[in-house]
Parts: sequence; structure tokens; C-alpha cells
Amino acid sequence: MSKEVRVRFAPSPTGHVHIGNIRAAIFNWLFARKEGGKFLLRIEDTDKERSTPEAIDSLLECMEWLGLDFDEAPFYQSSQAAHHIATAEKLMSEGRAYKYQKGEGVVTFFRMPWDLDKFSCIKQVGAAENTLHTALPVVLNESGISFGLVSKKGKAVPQEQLCLAGFRDLKLFNAADECVFELNDNIESIYSGEKTFEFADIVKMTFTRHSVTFTDIIKGELAKPMDSMKDLVIVKSDGSPLFHLANICDDITQEMSHIIRGDDHVENTYRHVVIFEALGADIPEYAHLPMIVNAAGKPYSKRDGDAFVGDFRTKGYLADSLFNYLTLLGWSPGDQEKVSRTETIDLFNLERVKSTAAQMDMDKLYNLNGQYIAEMSAEDFITLSKPYIQGFEWFKEDDAFYAKVATLMHTRTKLVTQVDTWGYFFTEGVEPAESLEKVIRKTLKKEGVANNLKALADAFEKIEEFTGDNIEAAIIATAETLGLSAGKLNKPIRLAATAAGGGADLLPTLELVGQARVVARLRVSAERDCI
Ligand code: GLU
Repeated sequence: MSKEVRVRFAPSPTGHVHIGNIRAAIFNWLFARKEGGKFLLRIEDTDKERSTPEAIDSLLECMEWLGLDFDEAPFYQSSQAAHHIATAEKLMSEGRAYKYQKGEGVVTFFRMPWDLDKFSCIKQVGAAENTLHTALPVVLNESGISFGLVSKKGKAVPQEQLCLAGFRDLKLFNAADECVFELNDNIESIYSGEKTFEFADIVKMTFTRHSVTFTDIIKGELAKPMDSMKDLVIVKSDGSPLFHLANICDDITQEMSHIIRGDDHVENTYRHVVIFEALGADIPEYAHLPMIVNAAGKPYSKRDGDAFVGDFRTKGYLADSLFNYLTLLGWSPGDQEKVSRTETIDLFNLERVKSTAAQMDMDKLYNLNGQYIAEMSAEDFITLSKPYIQGFEWFKEDDAFYAKVATLMHTRTKLVTQVDTWGYFFTEGVEPAESLEKVIRKTLKKEGVANNLKALADAFEKIEEFTGDNIEAAIIATAETLGLSAGKLNKPIRLAATAAGGGADLLPTLELVGQARVVARLRVSAERDCI
């Protein structure tokens, strides 16, 4: 790569940060770090009504949390308004843009270029012919050509204001196959607004087809026929620049070498490459990332579950595991899934990004997060989880005891917010969660269980040193006396002693809960009529 790599994340700060957007940021960041280039942040805040300071703050916070550091000060698109307008005026003065009445107001259009051969992104495809429906006239004016194609069922399919440049050498024919109009002879008078043409009963048009093309690092060669394209609005009727103009101007100003963004922008890129050339700028290299989709293959949205970076953070996902998981959405580091940031930078390349949609898999993310937690040191886990548990009113400060609880629960924890289920280590009694009432009732109210619990409580009470080994011995001895297998007692003991459906191994759990509380809870369960 000869040029310095300069890439950017260019979000529009209009709300919460969607994982699809932050994945684009991650891929840009990885590419810059891999290539030793620059990763920039451009805040596309031209939509003044929808861009809010809160959204910008939350964006910066998300980036910091995920470790996406940028190499230059954030670039605010709104600061460039004068330059954007001056660029539109330059295009106007060069005949590459024009003002036109659209709806209520007058907007500025970028004109798809008639001088096609000056544009490296425009390629000649060959001779083309369309059969036209006579129900619709052919209208040619400053802003394009409109006509009707014929559907399979013979109906008129309106084509509106397609760019004139897409119809080089256009000839229109009537039913007698006579050529009634040639665009080449009239283009000046149409572009100048001097003339508008309207023809009825045209049955055929011929022209030379051209396509706008670009090479996408991920998707390969892409092309769009110009006869399906329109001139593009670049300045709104209120005088403010439209996304396309602002986006391109800033990419030129910021000297972007590559543009890595979601493939919902492919259609825009066909227009953007033309504008880059019209402005005398080099076209950057493009890489369009595949969509993130739900199980049904539709764009993944809030309706499908957590979709914003903040949601994952609040739920207790770690920045490193979310970062890791998002890199797997569309890219693959090989046969491994848990890959550190440094390794990812090392392995990253855009050529290995898939062009097909990437399916969001919450279970995979959840398990990956569990893996990250499990592989932390006990000390790190204690430090990580402490602030989460401190918020609960049942929590009692005792560093040494907390360290024991956290160490025991460490590998059982997939999300750090699951500390909310650890109350039974800290409270005196236990209140079963509503969701568990049924299973508790079913297990503890079974014939004979109350007696078993009483027998166990008696046995536990007699233990001198309440250790896992001694507890186990007491359970075995009690089971023998009761004529049961020891395994049968585990579930009732856990439910009575913790009121939780799962947790760490039973013996160390009981040891930590402590003799007095375990005995008392077993007795309470045995004596309770309902649950
Ligand atoms: N603000 C645009 C977006 O968020 C920028 C797209 C881009 O060029 O990266 O979709």
C-alpha cells in the first residue's frame, strides 16, 4: 500500500450507538492499526434537529469503553458548512450542478456528467434498446428524462427523471420506426433550461449504455447502469448541504485513503465516486461491510433484542468480548473465536471479510463473554464484580468474605450483572424468586422431603467444622439412615439453603453460606406449609 492509510468512523449522532455502526468503527480501527495508518473520528452532525450533544457524548463514551482510540481530534462535519456550500457553488460554476425546483423549494442537483470519457469510474457497456409504453410520454428536461417501460404483463412502468448522461446517443422512434429525436443534437439547449421536450407515441429508444463502476475490496467489481441513475440533490432548499456532498467533501479534506462502511451505502457510493472525480479528487478505496441480520435474515434491529452498545454494557458484557464478537460478524480470524485485540490486529485483513450478511448470535456472544470472564484472574474478577454487587441493599461489606464468594462464583458467571443472584451468601434467610416458586414447591413439598431436611439440619448442626468434606460425610450418613441415595438429597438441600436453581458446586456453596444459616434455612423449609 503506497499511500498512507487514513480511515474514519463517520457516525451521525442521532441516538444510541447501534452495534452495526460500532462494528464499522472497529473494522476501520483494526485496519488502521494493522496498516500503521490513522483512524479518525468524524461526527456527521449536519442534521441539526436530530444530532444531539447527548448522542455525541454517548458515542465518545462507547468508543472509549471499547478502546477505539482515534488519532486526530474529532472532526465535526457542521464546522465545514461553508466549505460544503463553496464546493456546491464550484460545481455550479463548472456546469456540474444546477438549481432546480423540487416540490416547494429550489434545490441544487449534482449533474451526472455528460463528458463521460473524462471519468475513470464510468465505463461504456454497449448498445442498448428499450421498448417503451405509449401510455406515458417521453419527457426530457434539465433534470432528466422520464418515460414508461413495458412490464411483463404489458403494463407501463414509469421511469422518472433519470439522468440524461445515462442516455448517450439517445434516439427515440415512433411506431413507423422513424427516429424523431436525437439527444446529442439537443443536449445543450436542454441543460441550459432553454428547452423541454415531450413526445407521445414513442415505442422504442436506443442509446449507448454506460455504467458507474468501482472495485470493492470485499464485494469485488461493482457496476450500476447509468440509465438507472438520477442526478443527485446536494444542497437542500434551505441552503444546507445534503449528506452526500458533506460526506464527500470531508473525505477529501480529511484525505481518506479507504472508506470502510456498511453495505447499505453501496448505492450512495455509485454516486460518490462520480462526485469525487468531478471535484478532481482521487477516489478512495472502498470496502462495504455486510449487514448484521437477525435469524430471519432481516437487518438486525432493536426489535430483535439488544442492539445498542449501551445495552450490552448495562447487561454486563465486557468491552473486550463485545469487541471480539463484533469482529467475528463478517470476518473470521481462522478456526479460533476468542482472539485477543493484538492478535486480531495482526490477523486482520479486509480481503477476509465476507460479502454475505452476518447473523447476530446472542448465545455465541453470551458464551464468549463467559469465556472472557472465566479466563480472568480471580483478583481481576473480584475487582470487576465488586461495584456491581455493591448496589444491592443485601450486600454486606467484608472484603475477605466477598473475595471467597466471588472466587467460588467466578467460572459460573457469564455476565458480571449475574452477581444479582448471589444474595443468599449475604442475607440471613432466603426468599425464593417468583420464577423458582414452582420448582421449589415441587421439590420441597414432596412427601418425605420435610423429614429429610429436618434430618439433614440435625446432622449439619452437629458438624464441628463446617467444611465441604464434613458436609459431604453428613449428607452420606443421613442418606444412609434415611435409606436414600445421597444424590437425591442434593437438589432439596440446594433449594432450601439458597432458594436458587443453580450456582457453584453444592459443598463449597454450603460451606460459604455457613453452618448456622444453612441449618436455619433447612428447618424453615421443612416447616413451611407452602413453599
Ligand atoms: N453518517 C453516515 C452513516 O452513519 C456515514 C457513512 C459513511 O460514509 O461512513 O451512515
